[in-house]
Amino acid sequence: MYRIPFNRVDWITSSFLIGTALTALIGVPIYLVKVGLDWFQFAMFFFFVTATMMSITVGYHRLFSHLSFKAKIPVKFFTLVFGACAFENSCLNWASDHRLHHKHVDHDEDPYDISKGFFWAHIGWLIFKLNPEQPMDNVADLRKDKLVMWQHKYVHWIGLFVGLVIPTALGYVWNLKMGLDPWLGALGGFLIPGIARIVVAQHCTFFINSFCHMLGRQPYSTSHTARDSAIMAFLTFGEGYHNYHHEFQHDYRNGVKPWQWDPSKWTIWTLSKLGLVDGLRRVPDGRILLAEMGEAHRKAQKKLAELRAHPAATARSAADSLHEIVEKLAANYHELEKAVADRVQLSREVMNGWQHETRSLMRELRRTTATATATA
Ligand SMILES: [Zn+2]
Ligand SMILES: [Zn+2]
Repeated sequence: MYRIPFNRVDWITSSFLIGTALTALIGVPIYLVKVGLDWFQFAMFFFFVTATMMSITVGYHRLFSHLSFKAKIPVKFFTLVFGACAFENSCLNWASDHRLHHKHVDHDEDPYDISKGFFWAHIGWLIFKLNPEQPMDNVADLRKDKLVMWQHKYVHWIGLFVGLVIPTALGYVWNLKMGLDPWLGALGGFLIPGIARIVVAQHCTFFINSFCHMLGRQPYSTSHTARDSAIMAFLTFGEGYHNYHHEFQHDYRNGVKPWQWDPSKWTIWTLSKLGLVDGLRRVPDGRILLAEMGEAHRKAQKKLAELRAHPAATARSAADSLHEIVEKLAANYHELEKAVADRVQLSREVMNGWQHETRSLMRELRRTTATATATA
């Protein structure tokens, strides 16, 4: 059967991942039963989990890996310090891996290549050392940033102090002030906003590499495995719209539609209003719609080919009636493609009209296909 390649195991990382997970899974329930949950511990957990995860999404990911906006020192400092508390390595390492992921997505050079399975993409790539190790030659821009290099040098000390010592100390002080056993408060601070928060933040980040390449829709492209999922977006502060992100990685938004859950996007926008960040990069609406219409057309063509090859006569006659839909989708796509190439300013109304038409054509296509294959 399967043989574990022990010679490739990264023992330090593995012990940390397994040790923190077991401590959280065993320690937290015992603590909650024996001591209970103080609102202060809960508030600390909420603050630390939000600060850590947003530092990964806003800082490590959208700012440093993709340069999707420019940030002033306070934002860089905050996201580097709390990013360190996620214990996901330094920002420099993280960005290097992540840039490789985008460049070689679903291929061997992609560090968290989903074609090697859920386990590998989620955590396996951290447990087993990459063979051979990557040279990190894709982060020359970040090496020029003094703050990034400072964090790279002291990342574990920063994570240890801010992410574990501070919540432990605050738990101690709080209980002392409330006339309770200070050591129990310290233990709660260590376990809940400390260790359990690290485990939650880490696995939610890992979901982006695993589930976000497996679950959800692909409205912009099927040329890679990345998918859009509202559930994943909820768990990852907006990173779940991963199909959009892989198509337009330099956009500061992942959930590009106004109704999509993307707190990281809202935070970046708010920080820009406060003058703390600027240069927010957005893909023009015409190009986004073009990607959606192109993908709809490709899907329709594929369906049509399937129906034509279907043995049942009903399916083949349905294919004839679908032909018109596919033609319409192609015509709309080419018209928009020309408008985008000529840089024609399209009104919101025109674009909404096209979007609406694409969706209703796709609905009709699904309906006809379902009836044709059901009666076949
Ligand atoms: Zn991805
Ligand atoms: Zn990315």
